[in-house]
Amino acid sequence: MSDKEDLEFVLTQELSKKLWKKLFAVEYIVTSLDYWRKKQGKKYTVLQTGDEDFECDCESWYYGSGLVRIQLEGGTSRFLTCKHMRFVLKEKKISFRKIW
Ligand SMILES: [Zn+2]
Repeated sequence: MSDKEDLEFVLTQELSKKLWKKLFAVEYIVTSLDYWRKKQGKKYTVLQTGDEDFECDCESWYYGSGLVRIQLEGGTSRFLTCKHMRFVLKEKKISFRKIW
């Protein structure tokens, strides 16, 4: 496979990922839970792309700091979450436990 074909393959994959997200991801807008940021009207966007697949545009998620590993009730896999994702889960009344 030539380099060009390789690149096109990657681009196509990226595109389909984006398209998939556009079609199926559920978007939640979470107002900051932090007192001062809330006052400033800071909002975060949590994207859910699967039962256990989330993305968030907050600093914690971006830098991978202050994240908590959780397991959904009845679930088998463990995954990292920021507090906004956990907030969304609580809002949806989905039970989970924190794994330390
Ligand atoms: Zn977040």
